[in-house]
Parts: sequence; C-alpha cells; structure tokens
Amino acid sequence: MDVVIIGGGEAGARVAHELHTAGWEGTVTLVGEEYRPVYERPPLSKNVLLDEIPEAVEPYRGGRLDVPGLTLRPGERAEAIDVGARSVRLAGGEDLRFDRLVLATGARARTVPGLPGNVPVLRTWDEALALRSALTGGGHLLVIGAGMIGMEVAASARTRGLQVSVVEVADRAMGRAVPAPVAAEMVARHEAEGVSLRLSTTVASLTRESGQWRARLEDGEELLVDHVLACVGTAPDTDLARTAGIEVDDGVVVDQQMRTSAPGVWAVGDCVSGPVAVLGRRQRLESWRMAHDQAVTAAASIRGEEPEHAAVPWFWSDQYDLSLQVSGMAVAARTWLERPEPDGSTLHLGLDDAGRVVCAAGVGRAAIAKDVRAAERIISSGAVLDPAELVDPTVRLKALARR
Ligand SMILES: Cc1cc2nc3c(=O)[nH]c(=O)nc-3n(C[C@H](O)[C@H](O)[C@H](O)COP(=O)(O)OP(=O)(O)OC[C@H]3O[C@@H](n4cnc5c(N)ncnc54)[C@H](O)[C@@H]3O)c2cc1C
Repeated sequence: MDVVIIGGGEAGARVAHELHTAGWEGTVTLVGEEYRPVYERPPLSKNVLLDEIPEAVEPYRGGRLDVPGLTLRPGERAEAIDVGARSVRLAGGEDLRFDRLVLATGARARTVPGLPGNVPVLRTWDEALALRSALTGGGHLLVIGAGMIGMEVAASARTRGLQVSVVEVADRAMGRAVPAPVAAEMVARHEAEGVSLRLSTTVASLTRESGQWRARLEDGEELLVDHVLACVGTAPDTDLARTAGIEVDDGVVVDQQMRTSAPGVWAVGDCVSGPVAVLGRRQRLESWRMAHDQAVTAAASIRGEEPEHAAVPWFWSDQYDLSLQVSGMAVAARTWLERPEPDGSTLHLGLDDAGRVVCAAGVGRAAIAKDVRAAERIISSGAVLDPAELVDPTVRLKALARR
C-alpha cells in the first residue's frame, strides 16, 4: 500500500510520522513545496522575531523522518490529482501513484484587497526571516489586522522597541475566537506597552514614499511608517482538491475520520473543514493542535482503524509575558461565568443554551493551563454542571471533570 501526502507542514508530516511509528508496511511519500525540512510555524510570530531562536524549530530533526519506506520530497509541488487513476502529477511532470492520498496543503496568508501585492505577510520561515531583518532596523511598524498573529507580531515588535500601530476593520481585536473580556485583557496590555490600536477602520491606500509607506486609513487619517505587515487571515489551499472534483466548502470537506468525498483520499490541518462536536457542525479551524490531532486520526483511519476525531479545539497565543489559552468554541457560548484562579487571574467559562460548558479561556500560566485542561474534559463530556460549583474556587475543576 503506497501513501502519498501532499504538504509537509505540521499536519502532513505528522501523518507520515504516525504511519511510520505504527509500523506501516507500505511506502509513504511526503511531497512539500517548501525546500526546508519540516518546521513549526507558531514561533514565527514570537520567538523568531525576538531573536530567541535563530533556527527554525524542526520537530523531526535528527533524521526522525529519514527512515526506510518514507521518502521526503521537499521543494516539490503537486500540480494535479487524478483520483480515478490514483496518481499525483508533480510540477516536474512526474506521476506518483498512490493507494491512499492525504491532502495537507494548509492555508495561505490572505492579501488585502485593493492594496499593493508586495505588502509583506507572515506564513513561512522565509517571510519570518525577512520580517525579523526589517524589524532589526527599528522604526514604525503598521500591522494590518488585529487577529492572533497580528497581535503577536505587534507584541514582538514593541518588545524590540519599535513604534507599533495596528489597524483592525472589526470593532474588537482577536476576532470571535477569543471571548471579549479575554481579548480586552490582552488589548489593555498592548496599550500599556504603547501599541496604538485603531478599530473599525482599515487601510484604504498604501503607497511607497522615499523608502517608507504612506497609509491612508478609511477615516482619512494618514500614517507614514517604515514597515507594513498584512495579517488578515488565511485562505485554505484547496485548489488541488477542487480541480480533482473533491468536495470543498471553505476547506476540503472531511468526516470524523478525516476522509474526503473521494474514496482513498484523506485531508488534514488548516486546509480542511471538518465536524466540530462542540459546535454541532463543520468548521475550518486553524491551530497547531488541531492539525496534530487530525493527523493522528487520519493515520489511524488509513491503517484501517475506525477512529473518530472528536478532539475539543484548543489554541494558545503568547504576547509579551502573557499566555492566552482557549479551549472549545467561544462562538458556541450564550452566557459566561467567571472563575477566580488562585494566581489572581480569571477563567472565563462559556455555556450554551442547554447549560453545557462549550468554552474555557483565560490569560495566565500554570493555574489557567491546568484549569483549561480540566475544562476541556468537561466540554468533551457535554455534561451540564452546577454553575455555582463551576465558579467556586474551592471546588476543583479536575474533580468536576472526573464526575
Ligand atoms: C505565524 C504563525 C503563528 C502561529 N501561531 C500559532 C499559535 O500560537 N498557536 C496555535 O495553535 N497555532 C498557531 N499557528 C497555526 C499553526 O501553525 C497551523 O494551524 C499549522 O501550521 C497548520 O499546519 P498544516 O500542516 O495544516 O499547514 P501548513 O503548516 O501551512 O503546511 C502546509 C504545507 O503544504 C505545502 N503545500 C501546499 N500546497 C502544496 C502543493 N500543491 N504541493 C506541495 N506542497 C504544498 C505548503 O507549502 C506548506 O508547507 C500559527 C501559524 C502561523 C503562520
């Protein structure tokens, strides 16, 4: 049985690794258009910009993917899939035959409509290096988009001593994935650090002027800055799937085993739209752990097991010395509870109409991390618990989760 995986990011590489460690007897070929060995993206907006890590973080360094039966094809782009003939055409014209195919093509950073195409974005190691080198010179950075990555870059640049402005078209930072009070806590820290955040407006035009950028905002304000970065979200890389006739709806549509509409084809990571139990519907989710968990599920399914991907979504974000964690889905919550934590921080618990805990979020370190983990088990169980107990710091969440 030959497996071909398209995309050498977290999700694709994890499928390869899982198949190998489970003793897959066929061949596995990992085709990735980036020329680098597999690397982690989360540090790109944080530690890399702060010079804390000079090298890309390579989870499989030391030859962990250099094993018999597994072929890595970095720097190779898959151009087309023939589902019927079970083959993948590479850019060089070579056809790779497969019995099982995994799409792990991830997502691409969106550009801002109406602005020049050369406005930098941040998705790859090379883009992170270019941004780091630009920030080394100091000056004023304009970040377009106050999502998670935009705010992480703002924190890193401010920590480096740059003047930082952030422009966001919505009326709040960090979107609907983060509960409003938690986002407000992060924003307050940015403001205390001197970041200037403009909400409910966007950049209407951007022009080069003597080595700088002149940004005219929708409300007429003009900013003359040294660096610009567009952080306006991503578009899933679904072209291959679409042209192969595989169902796509925002992302490549998958079931709970990460199987696509085409027999013998799985999809994982940022490129998929899959069932999210806590939402009760499909959704594309972009987080490191989602990519990891989906890959584990897909590998088990390819091996012929019957796994069900029911993991609760979870992501983190580090800005300054603050660590934000969100488990579950904030958009599923109708009411919110506040649970005081022993370190003075607050855990926000979102309940749906039926009173089930559907989201847990907070800013902090050990205490929040522990309780978000416990809340994750409560979210996963779908249990309705007594709100008075949920907010009572003398009642351990771990004990409630065990119930
Ligand atoms: C700057 C940054 C910071 C982040 N920080 C966090 C964080 O703090 N917390 C968190 O939870 N998540 C974070 N994430 C998100 C997380 O990194 C992603 O969810 C994860 O990388 C998704 O992995 P993936 O393998 O699906 O996609 P990707 O990592 O995008 O990998 C897809 C790969 O497929 C390749 N590819 C695409 N098409 C083809 C083709 N036709 N042929 C060959 N190869 C192809 C692409 O070049 C790419 O290398 C961050 C992401 C970024 C960009």
